[in-house]
Amino acid sequence: MERYDYVIAGAGAAGLSLVYHLIRAGLGDRRILLIDPSRKTANDRTWCFWEIGDNAFEPIVFRRWRRVAFYGERFSRALDLDPYCYKMVRGEDFYRFMDEALTSRPNIARCFGAVERVEDDADGAIVYVNGATYHGAWVFNSIPPQLDSGSANGDYHYLLQHFAGWVVVAPEPAFDPATATLMDFRIAQQGECRFCYVLPFDARRALVEFTVFSPRLLERDAYDQEIKAYLRDFLDVSRYEIEHVEFGVIPMTDAPFETFPGRRIVNIGTAGGCTKPSTGYTFLRIQQQAQRITHALKTTGRPRYTVSPLRRRFGLYDSVLLNILDKQRYPGHKVFTDLFARNPAARVLKFLDETTHPIEELGVLTSTHYLPFIAGTLDVTLGRLWRRLVGRLRQKTH
Ligand SMILES: Cc1cc2nc3c(=O)[nH]c(=O)nc-3n(C[C@H](O)[C@H](O)[C@H](O)COP(=O)(O)OP(=O)(O)OC[C@H]3O[C@@H](n4cnc5c(N)ncnc54)[C@H](O)[C@@H]3O)c2cc1C
Repeated sequence: MERYDYVIAGAGAAGLSLVYHLIRAGLGDRRILLIDPSRKTANDRTWCFWEIGDNAFEPIVFRRWRRVAFYGERFSRALDLDPYCYKMVRGEDFYRFMDEALTSRPNIARCFGAVERVEDDADGAIVYVNGATYHGAWVFNSIPPQLDSGSANGDYHYLLQHFAGWVVVAPEPAFDPATATLMDFRIAQQGECRFCYVLPFDARRALVEFTVFSPRLLERDAYDQEIKAYLRDFLDVSRYEIEHVEFGVIPMTDAPFETFPGRRIVNIGTAGGCTKPSTGYTFLRIQQQAQRITHALKTTGRPRYTVSPLRRRFGLYDSVLLNILDKQRYPGHKVFTDLFARNPAARVLKFLDETTHPIEELGVLTSTHYLPFIAGTLDVTLGRLWRRLVGRLRQKTH
C-alpha cells in the first residue's frame, strides 16, 4: 500500500486550495496524493466573493468590481462596496493555475479514480480507490455529500440555491463594466426568492444568471426562459450570442456537517460545512478553512483547528434567515431589500462575512421587519428544544 503524509480525496475547489495553501505554508515537501475521477480543465463554474485586500488566488482574479447594483421593490441603487471588492475567479483559470503549481513537484502525486470509502487506521486512514488502497497519515475529504432533502424532526432547513447562467455577447455595448448587479428582484417571485445577477466582463460581454432559493429545482427550460426574458425586459438586450452556459445547485442548509468524521479524517469544502447556509457563498470560506488547517499542521503537526464558540451566533442568524425563507414568514426579496436599503453595503457584506461585532449585528438585524425575525428565532431556538423534548418522550413511551 502506498503511504502518504496527506491524501486529499476530491481535487475541486477545496482539495486544490488545500494543496496550494500547504505549498505556500512550506509544507509542499510532504508526500501528498490528490485523488479525483478526472483532471478538471473545463470552465465548470465561476467563483465570486467579496473581500478587503487580496487572497492566495489574486493572480487569477478575472474581474473585479468596486460597485454593485441592487434592485428591490422600493429600493434600487448602485452601491459603493468600499473597502470591499467583488471578485470573480473562473474555474478554468483556477484548474490551469493549480496544474502549473503542481507540475515539477514529484512529491505531489495524482490518482485518477473514484474514492469508494475512507477508513481510520491505527496510524492514519486508508482510502479505497478502484481496488487499490492508499494510506494517508491524514486524509482530507472533499467528496460532495449526499444531502437530505428534508429533515425527520424538522430541526434543520434544507433549501437549495439553484441557478443557470449564460455568458452572452451583444453586438453593441449593453453593459456597464464598472457595475455588477448583485441582486435584481424586479422579476416575478412566484412565491419564492428569485433574482437575477449580472457580471459584466466588458461593455458587450456579461454573465447573466437567474437564481432561486427554494426547496426544489425547476424544469431546466424554466431557467433559460427567465434569463431570456430578463435580458429582453430589464437589460434591453434582444440580440446576443450565448458563449457559455453554467448551471449549479448549492445546498443552503443549517444541518450540521461533520468536519472531523474520523481520528485521521478531515472533511473540507462543501463536505466540511464551508458553504454559508444563508447565501451559498463558499469559495472564500474554503480558503479560510485551508489556512486554518495548514496553520494547525505547521504549529501542532495535526490539522485540528477550533473555532470560537462565540461565532456560533452566526449559525443562529443563518438558521433564522433560512427559517423565514423556508416557512415563508416574509418574502426573501423584502428581507434583502431591507438589509441593503437600511445599511451601508459594506456593513451587510461584513455581516454576511461573519466579521461584525454584536452591536453592528443588532443594527443589521433590526433593519428588517422584526416580527418574522422574532417568529423565526423562536422557532429555531425554542422550537428545536420542544421538538427534541417531544422526540425523547416518544422514544421513552415506545
Ligand atoms: C456552478 C457553481 C457556481 C458556484 N459559484 C460560487 C460562487 O460564485 N461563489 C462561491 O463562494 N461559491 C460558489 N459555488 C459553491 C462552491 O464554491 C463550489 O461548489 C465549490 O466548487 C465547492 O468546492 P468543493 O471542493 O467542496 O467541491 P467541488 O469543487 O465540487 O470538488 C469536489 C471534487 O470531488 C470530486 N469527486 C466527486 N466524487 C468523488 C469520488 N468518489 N472520489 C474522488 N473525487 C470525487 C469531484 O470530481 C470534484 O472535483 C458554486 C457552485 C457551483 C456548482
